[in-house]
Amino acid sequence: ELQFTSAVEVLMSYYPHVKKAIGASEKIFEYVDRKPQVPPDGSLAPQKLKGHLQFKNVTFAYPRRPDTPVLKDFSLELKPGQVTALVGPSGGGKSTCVSLLERFYQPQEGEILLDGQPLHSYQNQYLHSKIAVVSQEPVLFARSVRENIKYGRENATDDDMFEASKMANAHKFITDLPNGYNTDAGEKGGQVSGGQKQRIAIARALIGQPQILVLDDATSSLDTESEHLVHQALLKSSNRCAILMIAHRLSAVEKANHIIFLQGGEVLEEGTHAELLEKGGAYAQLVQKQNTAFQRNTGEGTDTEKV
Ligand code: ATP
Repeated sequence: ELQFTSAVEVLMSYYPHVKKAIGASEKIFEYVDRKPQVPPDGSLAPQKLKGHLQFKNVTFAYPRRPDTPVLKDFSLELKPGQVTALVGPSGGGKSTCVSLLERFYQPQEGEILLDGQPLHSYQNQYLHSKIAVVSQEPVLFARSVRENIKYGRENATDDDMFEASKMANAHKFITDLPNGYNTDAGEKGGQVSGGQKQRIAIARALIGQPQILVLDDATSSLDTESEHLVHQALLKSSNRCAILMIAHRLSAVEKANHIIFLQGGEVLEEGTHAELLEKGGAYAQLVQKQNTAFQRNTGEGTDTEKV
C-alpha cells in the first residue's frame, strides 16, 4: 500500500505538467478545428487595393459549438481613411471578427468582401501584407528595436523606420533608450514596458504600409495621454489606410468615424460618439460607468476597467 501511495504521489507531482499538456492539446484541437472549413485561398493579388472592407450579414458559430452563433447577421463597413471601432461587453464577438478577417474561420452565412471581392478569392500571403493586426500583447523578438520594427517590411530603410515610429508615437521614447534603436527589445532585455512594446508593434505594422490596420486592444497599456497621441497620429495617417479598432476603454474610440456596439454577437447600436451619447443607450451608460470608475481612481492609467 505504501508503494501505491508513493506511486500516486509521484504521479501527482506530474500533475502540473499533465495539466499543461492537456491545455496544449486543446490549443492543437482548436487549430485543427479551424482549417478544414476554411476554403483554400484564391489567386487575386491586385497591385492597387483601396482597402474597402465589408462584413455583410455574417453569421458565425465556432466548429466546437455549431449551435451557438457568436455573430448573428453582423454587418460592418470599413472605408479607407476612416476609423471604425468595435466596442461592447466581453464575449460580444469583437475578437471573433478579427479571426474571421484573418481567415482562421469561415462564416456559415453572409460574406466578407475586400474591395468588393470575397476575402477568400485573394492570396493569403497578399492578405497578410495588406491587413495588419496588432494585438494587446504583441510578441517582440529578442533582437534590437530596429530589427523588430524593420521586420514589418523587407528592405526597409532607417527613414521608413523613423516615419513609422513617429506615427506610433514611439520615436521619442526609443531615442531616449540607452542604446536607442539598438536596444534589445526582447523579454530578457526587459528594457521596454508593456505600453512601449505595443507602440513598437504598431510601428512594425505601419512600416509595412497596410491598407487595413486592426488594433485589437493594442493601446490598452498606454496611459490615456499617450494613447491619445498614438490615435491622433494614426488618424493623420489614415488617409493611407482604414483602421478597425477594438477597445475596452471607450475614451480610446471617441474620435472614431463610426462606433459599433456589439453585444451577444449582435449590433446593439451604432453611430458616432456624439450620436451614441445623445441616444442615451448602452454605449452612453458604459461611458458614464467608465468615467465614474476613472474619477474614483487616481488617474494613473487605472481606467482600464474591463467591461
Ligand atoms: P473580449 O472583450 O473579452 O475580448 P470579445 O467581444 O472579443 O470578448 P470573442 O472573444 O469574440 O468576444 O468571443 C465571442 C464568443 O465566442 C464568446 O462567447 C466566446 O466564449 C466564444 N469563443 C471564442 N473563441 C472560441 C473558440 N475558439 N471556440 C468556441 N467558442 C469561442
